[in-house]
Amino acid sequence: MSVNSNSFSVGKRLIAALDVPSGDKAFELAKVIGSDVEMVKIGLELFCAEGPELVKTFKAKNFRIMLDLKLHDIPVTVGRATKRVAGLGCDFLTIHSGGGLPMMKEAVDSAGEQMKVLAVTVLTSMDAEDLKAVGADSQVADVVVKRALLAKEAGCHGVVASPKEAKIIRKAVGPDMLIVTPGVRPSSGPQGDQKRVTTPKEALELGADMIVVGRPIRDAADPKIAAREICQQLQ
Ligand code: C5P
Repeated sequence: MSVNSNSFSVGKRLIAALDVPSGDKAFELAKVIGSDVEMVKIGLELFCAEGPELVKTFKAKNFRIMLDLKLHDIPVTVGRATKRVAGLGCDFLTIHSGGGLPMMKEAVDSAGEQMKVLAVTVLTSMDAEDLKAVGADSQVADVVVKRALLAKEAGCHGVVASPKEAKIIRKAVGPDMLIVTPGVRPSSGPQGDQKRVTTPKEALELGADMIVVGRPIRDAADPKIAAREICQQLQ
């Protein structure tokens, strides 16, 4: 897969995270956001509440889906789970690069032809202090690049990282991997628990192919306008 940023329309660059507790709320949010956004992210909260059926229903409504489960287990377990996810017709699945090379390889081998496997490098909610506390005594950027290279070696189609690291990742992995970045905030919005953030425009300038945005859309007075403003920033 070759990633040519120019081939992405604006609506394809924004992934809306449906971080809500039920299918009803997810459909409501997706409906309000409307056709500006083609891809939605189903994460742990929603998947734990509604399970695979919800993915099938969103697929039937022609949404593209990023299933953000950040799988992290022994290789055989991750491989078997990946097969089940591929069977649902997801477009992207996230795994956690912290699971290591054999685990990532197993996921890629189990993903089939259609689904792309994205490896989370370091959570955007973590900074150097947090990494140190869990025993990784290196700079965030070093860990991110090391894991991105490992993801490339495993055959992953892309990585998930902070936009702050997009440039060094691109330099390290070359043009063919997708860089998807959460940790994006319109300039005036609250950061919440995210620590390595940029604005949507900066994310793109730094080399992100697609951005994931949750709370700034979900919690906006008008989620449609919030999504539209982000899209405008991505023009
Ligand atoms: O609300 P906010 O825009 O911070 O949401 C970001 C979304 O991206 C959340 O659903 C979160 O689980 C996800 N995510 C992340 N950092 C990663 C990978 C995924 O924030 N490294």
